[in-house]
Amino acid sequence: MNHLGHRFSRFVTRAARRYLVGADQRWVFEPPAPGWTPLPIERTSFYLHVPFCRHFCPYCPYTKAPYHESLIEPYTRAAIAEVDGWANTIGSAKISSIYIGGGTPTIALTSVSRVLTRVRERFRLTGDICIETNPTDIDNEIVQQLKDMGVTLVSLGIESFTAENLTMLGRGYDSIVAERALSLLAGSNFTSVNADIMFALPNQSVSSVIADIARAAELGADQITTYPLFTFPYTSVGEYLHLTAVSMPKLKVRREQYRAINQWCDQNDFERTSVWGFKRGNVPRYSSVTRDGYIGVGPGAGSHMTDGFVLNTFDLNSWMESLSSGGSAIALRMPFAGEMAGWWWLYWRFYDTRIPLDELDIVLGHDARKARWWLRIVEQAGFAVRNGEFLKLTEPGAFWLHLVQNYFALNYVNTLWTQSRRESWPKEVFI
Ligand code: SF4
Repeated sequence: MNHLGHRFSRFVTRAARRYLVGADQRWVFEPPAPGWTPLPIERTSFYLHVPFCRHFCPYCPYTKAPYHESLIEPYTRAAIAEVDGWANTIGSAKISSIYIGGGTPTIALTSVSRVLTRVRERFRLTGDICIETNPTDIDNEIVQQLKDMGVTLVSLGIESFTAENLTMLGRGYDSIVAERALSLLAGSNFTSVNADIMFALPNQSVSSVIADIARAAELGADQITTYPLFTFPYTSVGEYLHLTAVSMPKLKVRREQYRAINQWCDQNDFERTSVWGFKRGNVPRYSSVTRDGYIGVGPGAGSHMTDGFVLNTFDLNSWMESLSSGGSAIALRMPFAGEMAGWWWLYWRFYDTRIPLDELDIVLGHDARKARWWLRIVEQAGFAVRNGEFLKLTEPGAFWLHLVQNYFALNYVNTLWTQSRRESWPKEVFI
């Protein structure tokens, strides 16, 4: 999108969010006011960010740091201090799921295990533990460590089985390593194994995408998360990180590939569980982002509280120093006003591709009428169909949501992340 396009999309989103959420919501992240502490919570989810990577993939926008053994102990101590900080303020909440992402969690599993032990001591863990894994790390010993930690859902970042794609993405392994890792995880009796597969890669054909997801299913993945090469590398995050190595395919290509993926999944008993995700059989849904409320631990980790978002400092050293001296890792906060929490809930239900209509009144209060009116338009446009008490997105509906997410929501993330990478403790970030 050119400069004019960006300005236009900013204007449209600002007008839309003002109309939907109201003028009281300030779209600005600021350092928390002195003395501010999170409110007590009865039930939430937990996210642990493990930032270390052995090598950096050129397209990756996530918060990461080069792996060095000497960093693991101070990282672990800081993460445990942060768990304690959360428990001291929100109380011993019920934790309905744990998600461990990165970075590459599998290069620091002893550290992860120590943090999980502290989470179990300070909170009441009731749900699944999900973890992101990297093909290069998976062997029998790692699988045993995951089992010992109580991990139930595993996601393997394969991205592609095709040599050219793996080289272009700079993943640092070949298809034999990826296949061996997936077979081992699939045969290890986890509740579910998800395979991440990318599409819309430069010069990638529809048949190559379908071959990748078919191969993942054949090797035993019962969930497949497909996502396009995000636009981050071409935005200011990308510029700041000098990510210029790849280019984005045209909308027509993404449309064709997304349709083909949906068709393949439909014909092979994989039901759609989110805009990007599909699963086969009666397994708990693997998802990293749709949880309704979570606390985050680690550099750059965000938390979704009942009264707003908070975001940790992105800088690993600043994060460790602050926590080791008894301080907080939270750099920024955006409080909710009006029915913002309800609209945020509705946004993620769109992402789930299923909107429970009977919950609208409870969650959105007096804005439920406005939401219903827009949902009727979505239905009349053919982007959703009624299914009992749910409104279910159709395949075109899911695709266009993916576009809206690309051009609008990711712009917010981009603004926030760019500023958070430039300064450890930003003064304010308008999104
Ligand atoms: S994609 Fe994963 S392995 Fe690659 S740099 Fe990003 S976090 Fe590290």
